[in-house]
Amino acid sequence: MFKLKPLPFSYDALSPHMSKDTVIYHHTKHHQTYVDNLNKLLTKDHEGMSLIDVIKHAHQTKDTAVFNNAAQVYNHDFFWMCLSHNEKDHTPNDTLLMLIERDFESFSHFKTKFKEAALTQFGSGWAWLVYCLNDKKLKIIKTGNADTPITDDHMVPLLTCDVWEHAYYVDYPAQRGAFLDVFLNHLINYSFVSENLSKHDL
Ligand code: MN
Repeated sequence: MFKLKPLPFSYDALSPHMSKDTVIYHHTKHHQTYVDNLNKLLTKDHEGMSLIDVIKHAHQTKDTAVFNNAAQVYNHDFFWMCLSHNEKDHTPNDTLLMLIERDFESFSHFKTKFKEAALTQFGSGWAWLVYCLNDKKLKIIKTGNADTPITDDHMVPLLTCDVWEHAYYVDYPAQRGAFLDVFLNHLINYSFVSENLSKHDL
């Protein structure tokens, strides 16, 4: 059985950029529901598996119900870690900035490209910054619904933004772009991004 992970900050910590109501609903209703649905779907086959094992197994066996719920649990666990109310987390450190400038020309161009990917994800899904182990480069990708880069062994997720409507509709009604501007300028935890990158050879 899996449990809903507590948030790394208080429910009102991200206000006014992300309201207390949005964070409460998103965590205690949406995220919790994925955990509950996943637990209902688990069988003996899943005994002893980590969440990532469950996702990879469901992906290989095309078990859509388990995959969707398990991947959404993982994606949300990861998403919350990508957010911070601490001003010092909102800018990348020198090493990360150097890689961003190498692979996206400039920090500002990186933000433009990330916003573009997140805006053009048709319907529900996620925008990601990943580290590709193949060519050792940073890349921006988008995934639909519950899809997640961890099903690709060559991709290391570094940062994600939830672009399901429930992530922003209360605070930015029908304005995904406005939410993305706030996410990119006031919410990203670049310390978490660097931490994810530090586990790999650059
Ligand atoms: Mn969500």
